Amino acid sequence: MSETNITALLAKGDFVCECGKPHAAKLSKAIIETGAINKIPEIINGYGAKKVFILADENTYSAAGETVENVISSAGIKYKKFVMGKARIEPDEKAVGSVILHYDATCDMLISVGSGVINDIGKIVANIAKIPYMIVGTAPSMDGYASATSSVIRDELKVSVDSKCPDVVIGDLDVLCKSPLKMIQSGIGDMIAKYISICEWKISKIINGEYYCERIATLINTALKKVVDNARGIVTRDKEAVKAVMEGMVLSGIAANYAGVSRPVSGMEHYFSHVWDMRAVEFGVPFDFHGIQCGIGTINSLRVYEKIKTLVPNREKALEFVSNFDYEEWKKTLIKYLGKGADAMISNEQKERKYDKESHAKRLETIIQKWDEIIAVIDALPSSESVEMMLKDIGAPTTVEEIDVTREAEHYAFLITKDIRDKYIGSRLLWDLGLIDEFADELFPIK
Ligand SMILES: [Zn+2]
Ligand SMILES: [Zn+2]
Repeated sequence: MSETNITALLAKGDFVCECGKPHAAKLSKAIIETGAINKIPEIINGYGAKKVFILADENTYSAAGETVENVISSAGIKYKKFVMGKARIEPDEKAVGSVILHYDATCDMLISVGSGVINDIGKIVANIAKIPYMIVGTAPSMDGYASATSSVIRDELKVSVDSKCPDVVIGDLDVLCKSPLKMIQSGIGDMIAKYISICEWKISKIINGEYYCERIATLINTALKKVVDNARGIVTRDKEAVKAVMEGMVLSGIAANYAGVSRPVSGMEHYFSHVWDMRAVEFGVPFDFHGIQCGIGTINSLRVYEKIKTLVPNREKALEFVSNFDYEEWKKTLIKYLGKGADAMISNEQKERKYDKESHAKRLETIIQKWDEIIAVIDALPSSESVEMMLKDIGAPTTVEEIDVTREAEHYAFLITKDIRDKYIGSRLLWDLGLIDEFADELFPIK
């Protein structure tokens, strides 16, 4: 089976893998081809839906929504549409509430036309309405197309909430190829992030015996290679290149659904981006597209791993660092740089106990014992230079300066990456080794 052939993969259905875990794609159908929108009526009929609710915003309506509406209307299918305003929509209570207030409860299928935000809202509404859900993608900008969670702002905090995995993803190449270059660059940034996430998944398997699936890792690596090999083509909107990015985005969602956790698709690089997003919500400072930030986070993470490769673990140094580590002080730093966003991390620590000194001592022994194995995993990463060149080649930002994030916010984002999720990543390995502060000062100096 060609693992990047999404149709073949989805046709396989749910299965029990060699890794021992049952894998469910959640997504039923993905059509990524020229003219895919024309297949929508047939799919609606396949679900036996009598009236569809079309959700878009003014930008996505002109990009594809109008075509979707025409195709549905020509097929004689009843529909109600709601087109949100043109201003950048924040996925918050107001936006979700607005869609619900315009929603027509006689509809028995929801079709969103858009990418990140519109899909996040559509997934929530379809989940509550308990109806089949289709997303018509307008840009291959992030890997949330086939995920069952929505990234939202709730109570003024950026959080991820459970919603509904789309049943169908439509990626019409005529639409996707016309999407803004920056949104395709963002998709590539979200894809190269997988260099880090897969590497860290393997490292955590070695150190913590975490669940790991080779099949899922291979699925991601194959899709990633295809995106990188074709990357230059996005500049001229080459269909194969744009298709590879969209497929990569959808496959990433399937991979995460298979694993049941976000391990295969996000790691330290994503947490740089999360910190900047949280700071934007809290303090109103500049931020950029998810994948653009992840691209910079990926280069930063590769630089961290390049330096890790030159190390020899030092037991005494690590134990001394951890015995001097003052969590109460660290909490103050979290609050200073994240504001209210720090609360969730501080309460998570009570469950995670990642800074517990006894469990650290055990982990440290494993790290020292298995250092060669860890280095072999890191050796498989591409160089930060080559990835930086690739991003520059397609015109994507590679430094925080280009996205108006300060050096200070980069420095502290690196330190905070270890607190974002209960996930063993590069910055946690460095804390374990007693080297996190040195790395921060050397790789991400404030001045
Ligand atoms: Zn598996
Ligand atoms: Zn992502």
